[in-house]
Amino acid sequence: MTASLRTLLDGPNADVRDLVRAWLAEPGNAPVADLPREEHRAQVLAWARELADAGGTAIGFPVEYGGEGNVGRSIAAFETLAAGDLSLLVKCGVQFGLFGGAVLHLGTEHHHERYLSAITSLQLPGCFAMTETGHGSNVQALATTATYDAAAGEFVVHTPDADARKDYIGNAARDGRMAAVFAQLVVDGEARGVHALLVPIRADDGGVLPGVTIEDCGAKLGLEGVDNGRIAFDQVRVPRDALLDRYAQVREDGTYFSPIENPTKRFFVMLGTLIQGRASVCGASITATKVALDIAVRRSLTRRQFGPPGGDEVLLLDYRTHQRRLLPALATTYGLHFAQARLVERLHRAFTTDDVPDRERRQLETFAAGLKAVASWHATDTIQACREACGGAGYLRANRFAALKADTDVFTTFEGDNTVLLQLAAKNLLTDYRDEFGELDPLGLASFFAGQVIGTLAERAAVRKVLAGLAARLLPGRARAKPGDEAAGRGRYGELRDRTEQLSLLRWRQEHILQGVARRLKGGIDSGREPFDVLVDCQDHVVEAARAWVDRVVLEAFADAVEACEDPELHALLDRACSLYALTRVEAERGFYQEHGRLTAARSKAVIKTVNALCAELRPDAERLVDAFAIPAPALADAREVAANVEQAA
Ligand SMILES: Cc1cc2nc3c(=O)[nH]c(=O)nc-3n(C[C@H](O)[C@H](O)[C@H](O)COP(=O)(O)OP(=O)(O)OC[C@H]3O[C@@H](n4cnc5c(N)ncnc54)[C@H](O)[C@@H]3O)c2cc1C
Repeated sequence: MTASLRTLLDGPNADVRDLVRAWLAEPGNAPVADLPREEHRAQVLAWARELADAGGTAIGFPVEYGGEGNVGRSIAAFETLAAGDLSLLVKCGVQFGLFGGAVLHLGTEHHHERYLSAITSLQLPGCFAMTETGHGSNVQALATTATYDAAAGEFVVHTPDADARKDYIGNAARDGRMAAVFAQLVVDGEARGVHALLVPIRADDGGVLPGVTIEDCGAKLGLEGVDNGRIAFDQVRVPRDALLDRYAQVREDGTYFSPIENPTKRFFVMLGTLIQGRASVCGASITATKVALDIAVRRSLTRRQFGPPGGDEVLLLDYRTHQRRLLPALATTYGLHFAQARLVERLHRAFTTDDVPDRERRQLETFAAGLKAVASWHATDTIQACREACGGAGYLRANRFAALKADTDVFTTFEGDNTVLLQLAAKNLLTDYRDEFGELDPLGLASFFAGQVIGTLAERAAVRKVLAGLAARLLPGRARAKPGDEAAGRGRYGELRDRTEQLSLLRWRQEHILQGVARRLKGGIDSGREPFDVLVDCQDHVVEAARAWVDRVVLEAFADAVEACEDPELHALLDRACSLYALTRVEAERGFYQEHGRLTAARSKAVIKTVNALCAELRPDAERLVDAFAIPAPALADAREVAANVEQAA
């Protein structure tokens, strides 16, 4: 059964996953611990070159530039690589995902012709220079300028002050030769908003180019093998064709043109190209979680502590608290895995379709933003739980937890801060109702959530209208549970183990929260308050709406995977894991369900009981569930050795 479970998890790109696993298992490719920073950086660059030479880093790029034009396979490879050294993963993410992705998605044919092969082969190491010291999440407020000099046919890229330095930029401190720089474009004296340009930063011999200043960000919490740096530009000139001009061009005569007239929409479309990066970090978070769970579950099946008087000591995983710490996290990781597979499938479809409708693009953006936030937080929580579950052995540096904790920590921040991403997801969820509610101006709403005050009466009216419509749609009265209706998990809403009931619980919560947010936003705006102030007041609620939506889509993806599984034994195992995921989420929100009369006190207690029962039922399959992750042994070797040594010493 483990083999069929592994096949199911590996999905359609199993071959590329196996190639990456084989590479990770080769001598010399295991994650490194404790290398001096410069040696670690050199090792990471050497590994990245090896992967590029083997063609593995071009998979997502068009065939004519040496790739396979296959985003699904490229993300599958990236996800699998996350079992190894995470500095290597992030270095590859910066070079091929962010820098390469900016050239591919924001550039046009002449950029592709000129740079893509050099980028995928790593002959041209580059940076994605968006964040500034002064602004990270609020990209619209970036202060670097790119002013067009029509007489010279050049852009002048400039950092006006220290706050406008590009900061934390991967590949900047040591290896990068060029950067995709995000700057405020000024053409003929008119500000055109944030656009990206390709700016050389170092010569071939590695010397920093005139007008460019680069500092090393120095020691970090983790990812020490990545050379993050700070870049400033002093009136650096680049030719007109340095502008990545898919969504906006500056013509030879010095006029600006964009097929997307509205600047806010243009901005959001450009940023939409970050979806692939978010999906990649999401997948990497899930893999890192799997590594931690593999180590902790395996150890809990060999380590014995205490026991009945006169009897043998008991395996850690036979203790309820240990099951509680590891098995719901394991079930959640399975859920996130299936949701991620769905996200990647949709992304792949979108990338192979010429014209993706706005609505579909927005839904993808919501999915990637929400899932990345939840998966990276889940990684942080689970890695810590696994470390503790391994006791002192988990704390030793030779073990992988130190690196896993330190290196994945920032997954909650880069590719979009999680709290900011959940707000983006919530904004999209509200906007998705636009068609049903007539004239909502989505840009008005986008500005609203981007922190801009909606100035015009027309925009205010549009927002009021959609919020009123949303509230009307979502407000229908809900059946309330009556005391005594439910006992031991059974009641008017059905069995807790019943998938329909589980889906109904999570969907109900999500809709209820969205409805509440809509009502509060509408009430605030109707009372004449500034939309920005209303939003700030409701912000925790807004974020919760997105979080509840992610819980729901994860359960839907998990439930569909269970349904599609034809092997009866495997189906039964996944069904238990899926119920454990669903009820873990319900249990975490018991207060909400009781406050809103959706669970009685008796039924709420039944949720706890059912979670306990499901943990016990899943316990015999725990090893099989982590085996199916197929983490290459060298990615776990140290931890296993440490576990074994500690066992012997004891
Ligand atoms: C190791 C590392 C590598 C990186 N690599 C790159 C790179 O290669 N290229 C690049 O361009 N950038 C890179 N970054 C930058 C990264 O993308 C930013 O740090 C991130 O976008 C967050 O921006 P910030 O640091 O300015 O945080 P801020 O935006 O200042 O956020 C700080 C806190 O404030 C909260 N906050 C912000 N806005 C709001 C709001 N509206 N409402 C409520 N709360 C809010 C956030 O949730 C967060 O907790 C990297 C960062 C690190 C640490």
